[in-house]
This record gives sequence, structure tokens and C-alpha cells, in this order.
Amino acid sequence: MSNSRKSALDEVLSREANHVDYGDRRVSEYFGENTFHLDKMRECLTEDAYKVVKSAIQLGTHVDRLHADQIATAMKDWAISKGATHYTHWFQPLTGSTAEKHDGFFKPIGPGKAIERFEGDLLVQQEPDASSFPNGGIRNTFEARGYTAWDPTSPAFVIGKTLCIPTVFIAYTGEALDYKMPLLKALHEVENAAKDVCQYFDKNVNSVGATLGWEQEYFLVDTALFNARPDLMMTGRAVFGHSPAKGQQLDDHYFGSIPERVTAFMRDFEYESHLLGIPVTTRHNEVAPNQFECAPMFEEVNIANDHNLLLMDVMEKTAAKHNFRVLLHEKPFAGINGSGKHNNWSMATDTGVNLLQPGKNPKSNMQFLTFFVNTIMAIHDNADLLRASIASAGNDHRLGANEAPPAIISVFIGSQLTKMLDDLEESILAGKMTPEAKTELKLNIGKIPQILLDNTDRNRTSPFAFTGNKFEFRAVGSTANCAQAMTVLNTIMANQLVEFKKNVDARIAGGDKKDEAILRELQKLITASKKIRFEGNGYGQEWVEEAAKRGLSNLKDTPRALDVYSRKEVKELFNKLGILSPVELEARHEIELENYILKIQIEARVLGDIAKNHIMPAAIEYQNILISNAQGLVDVLGEKEGREAARTQINFIKSISKHVNVMNDTVNLMIADRKKANAMEDTREKAYAYCDDVKSKFDDIRYHADKLEIMVDDELWPLPKLRELLFTK
Ligand code: ADP
Ligand code: MG
Repeated sequence: MSNSRKSALDEVLSREANHVDYGDRRVSEYFGENTFHLDKMRECLTEDAYKVVKSAIQLGTHVDRLHADQIATAMKDWAISKGATHYTHWFQPLTGSTAEKHDGFFKPIGPGKAIERFEGDLLVQQEPDASSFPNGGIRNTFEARGYTAWDPTSPAFVIGKTLCIPTVFIAYTGEALDYKMPLLKALHEVENAAKDVCQYFDKNVNSVGATLGWEQEYFLVDTALFNARPDLMMTGRAVFGHSPAKGQQLDDHYFGSIPERVTAFMRDFEYESHLLGIPVTTRHNEVAPNQFECAPMFEEVNIANDHNLLLMDVMEKTAAKHNFRVLLHEKPFAGINGSGKHNNWSMATDTGVNLLQPGKNPKSNMQFLTFFVNTIMAIHDNADLLRASIASAGNDHRLGANEAPPAIISVFIGSQLTKMLDDLEESILAGKMTPEAKTELKLNIGKIPQILLDNTDRNRTSPFAFTGNKFEFRAVGSTANCAQAMTVLNTIMANQLVEFKKNVDARIAGGDKKDEAILRELQKLITASKKIRFEGNGYGQEWVEEAAKRGLSNLKDTPRALDVYSRKEVKELFNKLGILSPVELEARHEIELENYILKIQIEARVLGDIAKNHIMPAAIEYQNILISNAQGLVDVLGEKEGREAARTQINFIKSISKHVNVMNDTVNLMIADRKKANAMEDTREKAYAYCDDVKSKFDDIRYHADKLEIMVDDELWPLPKLRELLFTK
């Protein structure tokens, strides 16, 4: 074993896990302790200011300057009592992570004197140096500066010594430069549209909120081993590495017991999460070795998403204390399951009804059916857009790669609901419905709750599955900001619900009774959306063929998926609902392409460097040992007998040369293609070139490197192997 690899392993073995003492406090005592939530505000604010902020949170009203000052002062005092010395506007630029710029609370007021200061204008608006964040050309075309603006719906929080204030990030000309702004707009639209549709069933519904419960998958790798792998450090994934003898075939990791050191890490990061009000509840092993998952109780989408971003951050910080590195990449290890972030999504009314949960009587079930069928229709009409919303270089390894959801978008609803929809479709006949037909229909609809008790009907291969009381969008990548998928899902749903309401109202105006109008409209949607429903195995080749016959898209890589953003109907949809203007959408398309190019470019460089600087020298060194051994045998035994005795060595020598040569030639071809791609002006063309010409060579290079790995003396191999990364406890 090479020295650096050996010392990395020794370091792991000689260490003990850190333990943190939480005292004996219960979660309920400290949950949300580090957040400035509404109840906290009630304690700290005047009656007036509290009313203003509450209305801003619940109704989206404006906070005037005077009250903003009061809120800022209360927030500052609270934060200082928690040990904060600085504050920052916390926002979600299009780089994919979160950003912050810290400023101190103190303000010098004379020689040797300072006060702690934080006023309303600092709370409400800030001007970060926007030029260092991606803007897809918006800033060249429009105005150079951008600002962050307070999102009062998401509570401020203290991490370490900093007060973090969730904000949106906007150009001075009004264009969104972040993920939060369009999400908030999409939520506003879907919530209004859903509320209007709810009026058919219950006039008491005053508001609807969309809900999100994400499930975060990740790998843990020991820090020392991680640091000995330049590819993990630079790209988050192992670009080389032969599959370990034991992978996940035995399925013994899933729901197996969690190793002690990992448990200590989990306890710690759950504690940190709970302080921040992130309702993390479940934790378990995943299918692959060293892969885990955590999930919170679901929340309102915007808050849930902020919490997910925060959690990823907390996880990384906490892992460092336990000498772990968190791998959030969608596919850190070839041949081993990748990581996703299932987005469980539904909508709930202020009367406490989950709109995707069948109710207790035919009326509430009609409501359920309405939202259920409209969701399917929305996915049917916008499957490609949904696919675009989850496109990333990392997720390309996962989608369609025979283990994760396929790149083909379809909806799974289970055999019983399928039958239900089929029955409905048939029984709602043209012309006036007879009273008997209506009664039978209502009876049928009334049966739904019993149907859903059957939980055996699950399909893990579907990208978009109904799971009893919510839809689960499973194709979202583990590193993703859920806002991308959630903006699209809620936008297409808003559009669909508005359309539905318009059509039902038209039928009612034409003389149909309300129930009949709704049923007929649903029937129309059931028929029109049929081809998006798929109950079979989403991983099979048959589905690829069947989907093609049905006319469903199979957008296999990021550049092709992102092309959807430039479609006319997509631009119109976002524009019509006021979520993204055509300029903003074009900018996003451009930024995503740039992100893709950068990721592949870095991977290509790392791949080339490791192949030439680590793997080739190790292979040649071993080859030299073989050569002197073979030479020695010939010297001692004579040409004929010596060659016979060195038969294996000679084959290895030849084999090493072959793999080294082909690997090196392919790396050189890849570098040439990279140079060609780099010279391209057009971003889209460049992304295509990176995908089709550069990335397409990765597997070939890896094949030869991985062959060398199992040939070369383990003592000489320079990189920690996958079995060490995956099985070191
Ligand atoms: P699974 O069998 O997929 O693990 P769970 O019931 O445990 O299903 O839920 C998984 C996730 O779905 C959790 O994060 C949970 O909070 C979330 N979830 C449950 N109900 C809803 C809902 N109505 N809206 C959004 N997410 C939900
Ligand atoms: Mg799930």
C-alpha cells in the first residue's frame, strides 16, 4: 500500500468518535431555540409590531419602516442574547449553494466607543456584491446591481455567532437572481388557484398552502480517506475505482444497525437541526454501504426548502467534527446506488384538509379526485419541463442509469386507483346523466379510502408516484435546491387548476349542475392524460420502447433537458403566471448550462491529472518490478526456461502497457476535445460538446484505470480504494 494511502487508513483506525453532551434536555425543550419564530416575536415585540409582522407572514402584507425598525431591534437583541456578533442576509444564488456576507452589529460612535446597531433598513434590504454571482447575462443587459430583500415568512436564525436572515436576491431592474423568488411566486399562484377550486367543495376554505417533505440521501466517508482522493475533493465523486468485491448485493445495509460513529454524528447533527427548528425525525441506512437518509416532518414548501438547504450545511459542518465528509453527490461511486432527494408534495387547506388525502364522504372524495386528477394532467402536459427542473451533471449519472428513476417522466398511482379512474372514465357518459348513474358514481367515489388502506401497492421505479396522501417526486437529485423542482411543479399545477376552474365554470354557465360539471371535466382530463400513467417497471428496456411509442420524451442528459426552457410554450407559461419573464428564463437556462460545463470541465481535468500523475506512474513502477523479475529469471534460468517461468509476469507487463497506452491516448483525445469545446462562444453549443465529446470519454478512461487497479500491487496503489472508502467504519 502506498505511504499516503496507508497513513490515511491508519489515521482512521486510531481515532475515536467525538461525542457531544446535550445534557438531558428533551427535544421539545430546545426545538427551534435558535430561531426567531412568531412566538418569540410575540414575546419581544409591541402588540402593534407583532400584528404587522404576523400579517406579513400570513397574508404577505408590507412591513412599514417604523415597524421594521422595531422588529430589527428586537431581532438584534434576541440574536445578541444567543451570542451573535454579526448578521447576514442569507440567500440562494443560482450557484446552487447558499450565500452570506457577514456584517458586525457594532458601530463606532466616537474614539474608543461603539454601540450595537441594527435597523429596519438593514433588515429589510441589503446590497451584496452581486457581480460575483451568476446572472446569465442579465446584468450585462440591464443593471449592474442587485439587492437582497427580507422574506419574513421564513424565520431568522442564529448559527454560531451569526444572525442569518432569509432573503430573496433580485437585480435592481427586478429580475430574480436566485431560487427563492420564483418559488415564492409559484407558491402564491398555486395557493390561490387551489383555494378557488376548493370553493366548489367547501366555502370555509380561506387559504391553501403547498407542502413539502424531502428525504435527503447521502454518503459518509472518512475525512482522511477523502483527503487522499483528489477526485472526491474536487468533484464530490470517485471518477476512478474498481467496484469492491462486496457491493450492495446482499442488501444487508438497508435498515441494518447504524455504526456507532455514524450514530454519534447523526445525534449531533439532529441536535443542531432541532435547535434551528428543522423537524428531522427519521434516519436510517440506505441500500448502499455507508449510505444514509434523513427526513423531516413535512412543512410549507418555502420553509421546508430553506430547512433542507440549512440541513445540508449543518450536516457538512457537523460531519467535520466527527472526521467524516458528507458526499451529497448524486453518484459518488459507479456500480453503487446513487443518492436522491425525494420530494413529497401535497396541498393543505387552512381548515386542516390535505387535498391529496381521500376524505370520509363522497363530497370530500370528489375534492380529492379533483386535485389528484389535475395533478396527473399537469404532469402529462409538462413532463419535459419537470424533467428540465431536475437536470444537472450529477443527476445525469442517476436518471436512467438502471437504479434510480428513469429520465422518462411518468406517474404511478397504483392498480386500485387506476381501476377507479378507468371506471370513472367509462361511467360518465355523454349527454345527461341518469340519477342511477350519479348514485353509482358517488358510491364508487365513496370507496376510495378503503382502497388506499392497501399499502402493498408500491412502485419504487416510478419518478412520480402517488403514495396514499401525497405525490412523491423521486427524480430530484441529492445536491439539488428543491426550489427548482418545486417552482415547476407548483407552476404547472397552478396553471392546470386555473384552466380546470375556467372549464368547470363554463359548463355550469352552460346549464350543468356543479357536480356533473366537475365530473365531466375530470373525465376529460382522465382520458387526455392517460399516456403519462405507467404502473410497470420503470427500469426496464421495455418501458423505454413503450414510452417512445406513447410519444413520451426520454431526455437523457442535461444540455438536452435544459433545451426545454427555450420552448415557446414554456416561456409563455412562466410569463403568463408572472413567475419568470422570458429574460429570466433565458438567464436561468444559460446559468444551468454554465454550471454543467464547469462541472464536466473540472471532472475532465481531475480525470486527466489522476490518470497521468497517479495511476500511470504506479502502473509503470509495478511494471518495472515485473520487468526486473522476469529479467532476473532469464538471467538465472536461461532464455527458454526463464521466459517460461516468467510467463505470468510477461503477460502482466504486456497488459499493463496496453491499458496504460489506451488510457493515456484516450486522455489525450479528451484533452483535445476539451480544448475545442473551450474555444466555443455559444454556451449551448459548448455544453453539447462537453457532453457528447468530452464526457463521453470518461467511461473509457476509467475502464482502463480500473483494470490497472486490480492488476497493480496493492502496496503501490496511490488512491484509497472503493472498498476502503465504503466499508471503513
Ligand atoms: P415513506 O414511506 O415514503 O417513507 P412517509 O410517510 O414516511 O413515507 O413520508 C415520507 C416523507 O413524506 C416525510 O418527509 C413526510 O413528512 C412527507 N409527507 C407526509 N405527508 C405529506 C404531505 N401531506 N405533504 C408533503 N409531504 C408529506
Ligand atoms: Mg419515500
